[in-house]
Amino acid sequence: MSNLLVTGGAGFIGANFVHYWMKAYPQDKIVVLDALTYAGNKASLAPVAENPNFTFCHGNICDTPMVEKLLTEHGIDTVVHFAAESHVDRSILGPDAFIETNIIGTHSLLKAARKIWLEQGWNPEHHRFHHVSTDEVYGTLGPADPAFSETTPYAPNSPYSASKAASDHLVRAYHHTYGLNVTTSNCSNNYGPYHFPEKLIPLVITNILSDKPIPVYGDGQQIRDWLYVEDHARGIELVLKKGRVGECYNLGGINEWANIEIVKLICKLMNDVFANDSSFLQRFPNAKLVGRGRADELITFVKDRSGHDRRYAIDPRKSNEELGYQPVESFSSGLQKTIRWFLENAQWWSPLLKANPNSAVTATCQIP
Ligand code: NAD
Repeated sequence: MSNLLVTGGAGFIGANFVHYWMKAYPQDKIVVLDALTYAGNKASLAPVAENPNFTFCHGNICDTPMVEKLLTEHGIDTVVHFAAESHVDRSILGPDAFIETNIIGTHSLLKAARKIWLEQGWNPEHHRFHHVSTDEVYGTLGPADPAFSETTPYAPNSPYSASKAASDHLVRAYHHTYGLNVTTSNCSNNYGPYHFPEKLIPLVITNILSDKPIPVYGDGQQIRDWLYVEDHARGIELVLKKGRVGECYNLGGINEWANIEIVKLICKLMNDVFANDSSFLQRFPNAKLVGRGRADELITFVKDRSGHDRRYAIDPRKSNEELGYQPVESFSSGLQKTIRWFLENAQWWSPLLKANPNSAVTATCQIP
């Protein structure tokens, strides 16, 4: 039995991880610590809110005394650290929050874990600090470059990826210097339920449903390696159960797609959904073009993001060979599940769109 502190558990991946873990380990206790920034949403945790093994704490990871109190009072043996500012466009508009949460906040958690777990004489063998990071720390790849492995040198290009790189180094340093039991996973782009509708896939789906232009940066040929969010949760589970302390593991889907191809694929899948079920047109009366099978007419090319990385791809051999990690969801079934989830859960995403009418994409580029 374990007591987990999940930071950022009201965000996209954190919430999916909480649902996955509570189903797989119903005897474990989970405390979610989340500051409920624009990206945090308690509604994403509604399915577990009444579970007696679940506790929600509204707070900031930078508040070290509060984190120490949580670790002590809940007997936390495992920290799974998702909390972050996570949107590259927002990091270009305003990097300060990224430095604060991603670097200072991670350091605050490390400090608290070190103090409570090591200095108070707890057995460090029973404790684990798992840090959730990104493949963006490795920078960008050319079309023929080999995919990122765990030994690829760090070369972050955006304030977001630079702040995540700094946090990865702090986690590593706390292991080497203080002996804290840490692991890190660097994952490729996730998609799935509860994804905030400013990121590419939910933005495309929700813009189609609102009949709004779908912004595509530059030539749309930026390549990303996509992983269904539950496969990410499964990967973190394997790192927690089987990963070697002090190690980093890359988690990816071997699933590279150019942005424009994903956008076209979602348009096609949504055209098909509306063609096969006329009730969606009644439920989404604004969805005029997709209702006529022409969602792709919403595609609008906009000025490229500054410093936009061209290609990310993960070499997952280490997690595959050491942990037996394999994603199980295919891209087409994962995308169909995701589209279906957004169609069935408009009550989750439409308040977010009302509260954030201008996404960071629309703030950084002019959409007609
Ligand atoms: P998200 O933006 O959806 O959620 C972040 C959560 O952290 C929100 O609930 C927010 O309220 C909370 N938070 C932010 N600042 C906080 C603070 N100071 N204190 C406490 N809580 C705070 O992010 P996500 O997409 O779920 O990403 C989770 C983690 O996974 C991040 O560390 C991110 O770098 C990493 N990651 C994301 C992806 C991806 O595709 N989304 C890929 C690889 C790695």
